[in-house]
Amino acid sequence: EKPVENHVFEADVARLLHLMVHSVYSDKDVFLRELISNAADACEKLRYEAIAAPELLSDDPGSRIVLTLDADKNTLTLEDNGIGMSRDDMVEALGTIARSGTRAFMERVEAAKAGDGAQLIGQFGVGFYSAFMVADKVDVVSRRAGTAHAWLWSSDGKGSYTVSEADLTEAPARGTRVRLHLMDDAKNYTSKWSVQRIVKDQSGHVPVPIDLIEKPGAEAERVADGTALWTRSKNEITKEEYADFYRGVSGQYDEPALTVHFRAEGRHEYTGLAFVPESKPLDLFDPEGKGRMKLYVKRVFITDDAELLPRYLRFVRGLVDTADLPLNVSREMIQESPILAAIRKGLTNRVLTAIEKLQESDETAFAKLWEAFGSVLKEGIYDDFERRAQLLALSRFRTTTSDEATRSLADYVKDMKDAQAAIYYLAGDNLDHLKASPQLEGFRARGIEVLLLTDSVDSFWVTAAPDFEGKPFKSITQGAADLAQVPKTEGDVPKTAETTPAVSDFIAFAKSALGDAVSDVRASDRLTESAVCLVASEQGYDRQLGKMLQGAGR
Ligand code: ADP
Ligand code: MG
Repeated sequence: EKPVENHVFEADVARLLHLMVHSVYSDKDVFLRELISNAADACEKLRYEAIAAPELLSDDPGSRIVLTLDADKNTLTLEDNGIGMSRDDMVEALGTIARSGTRAFMERVEAAKAGDGAQLIGQFGVGFYSAFMVADKVDVVSRRAGTAHAWLWSSDGKGSYTVSEADLTEAPARGTRVRLHLMDDAKNYTSKWSVQRIVKDQSGHVPVPIDLIEKPGAEAERVADGTALWTRSKNEITKEEYADFYRGVSGQYDEPALTVHFRAEGRHEYTGLAFVPESKPLDLFDPEGKGRMKLYVKRVFITDDAELLPRYLRFVRGLVDTADLPLNVSREMIQESPILAAIRKGLTNRVLTAIEKLQESDETAFAKLWEAFGSVLKEGIYDDFERRAQLLALSRFRTTTSDEATRSLADYVKDMKDAQAAIYYLAGDNLDHLKASPQLEGFRARGIEVLLLTDSVDSFWVTAAPDFEGKPFKSITQGAADLAQVPKTEGDVPKTAETTPAVSDFIAFAKSALGDAVSDVRASDRLTESAVCLVASEQGYDRQLGKMLQGAGR
């Protein structure tokens, strides 16, 4: 008898399991997609490791995933011949939560109302633990490629699991077998027709072939052929096939808002398949801010860490497949490769062009995209000097005249007053507060539009973006308002703020009363109703950026 180790799940896993088991989420099929995607990942990892160590493949070079159904025992079993897991891999991978975004996910589910929270489970992949939505016991037997030990992990999903060494004769020769002991109300996952349909719908385009065995002893039938979707020609691929593939590659279960599929030819040859999601990925504001584009070399998955797109496009999901890099390229080599730099540039162009086209062809769809990702795209205005003008032209803003809609800078410039020299903005964190600001009075009186900027990124890019179509950006809470040149009504003679003796007296009084608390007191055109307002000096930060930097302890 082999000794059995008992382990307690890490607190976050216990929390996630509790959510899974107690969720009223009705579309439980997603568990199958999660397990298949893990099996496919394991096959891709093996293919990658086998480049340097071909002996890992021994006499079984082809990847495959096999599903076996057993209605009598009420079990569903998935087996892959991928990389497999050692004992330590198992304890690490199936006892803790490593994936970024899961914590954010749990917080959102717990904060949401019961029904909405359950929807989130369907919208975002939640990994291996989703098996416990349909199973009251899960056994995982795994043998890591190239090792002579196999291990059995077993749990009822109620707080603890066991690990013990397994007999090699009862383990896959290489890879992982996951057996689900299904709950009584999950019997449909032993029916050939339902499983076949689910696999075809959800996982028809994973890059590993999938076979189905209807009952023990029956012959395997191929359900999905494992050909890489991106190698097929664009006009043969349906919208549904793209959406299915997108879900697999992104782990997100919404629809793609944009699909960009192209083959670059010429100096460098590669295929790109990139998707802009409909909704925000959970890890969008992770401090690391990494993208998730996958790099393949001749259809072998190499890494999803290659930064194939700039940070401000980190919400884009998909892959690049190239034959121009050697298969045994190291991760360090990748980062420094001029080929990768060229791919990055080409891909960035394609994605931005697609977004621009959407802007022209479908205003509503573009507005949705901007709503979801505008605050990330705007990071590019200060990060990517070369594309600053392009990104500014895509940007949309709430303004003093926009009501519920948004305005582009081209709209703004077209409607500028004759004598108006700058694009004016007011930054803050709350739209209603901004709209009520006395700083706007003089601008409203003259019919001058003011951008109302409420994203924290706004305070930064405005300092970096010198101009749009030659017009500088100017904070209305900073320096002189220079409104004097713009008449309030037609025919009105423009004049500078009045300094009658009474005003001068008041200014002298205010200066002596406020002392060092202010650097200056001036008459201004910016107010019509209110008596006074605070303004930042011409040099240095505008009021909102000053506040933010203070808050950040700078
Ligand atoms: P993710 O796939 O996002 O990493 P999961 O919860 O789906 O998260 O899986 C957790 C980890 O368990 C994986 O990263 C992997 O290390 C391991 N794992 C799961 N299934 C398999 C498998 N079939 N073969 C090898 N490793 C696996
Ligand atoms: Mg997974």
